[in-house]
Amino acid sequence: MKCPYCSHDDDKVINSRASRDGRYVRRRRQCSACGHKFTTLETAIASTPLVIKKDGRRESFDRQKILNGLIKACEKRPVPYKSIEDIAQSVEKWMEETSLKEIKSQDIGKFILDKLKTLDAISYVRFASIYLSFKDINELYENVSKLIKKGS
Ligand SMILES: [Zn+2]
Repeated sequence: MKCPYCSHDDDKVINSRASRDGRYVRRRRQCSACGHKFTTLETAIASTPLVIKKDGRRESFDRQKILNGLIKACEKRPVPYKSIEDIAQSVEKWMEETSLKEIKSQDIGKFILDKLKTLDAISYVRFASIYLSFKDINELYENVSKLIKKGS
């Protein structure tokens, strides 16, 4: 860390202390050139993988986009908003915990479909028709017919 007094690039940490809520660490440092003491704050930044879209472009993960897609798929269906939020939350958690640097948007779609499947069949089909490719649609039909058999 560069010293704010003399810009020297070497210091030693005198003490470190976490804030009461644990959200950041405060470090007291001493510049090894001029001897001045200064403080740095360290916070954790969650990093999520980049999303690879169907056309190959990359974009950063956006929880709101997932939420919007789900709201659209569940429109006028008896799905509580809380359940929709829970799915978006679990996607975000999965993204934060994975060690992958990049992830296909279709894989995210499949993850969401898995959750949606147990929630509402119509929303499931709607969501799938937006997010899956043609090959996956056949798989979808198989799943839907299984769901219908189960329901009757
Ligand atoms: Zn200094």
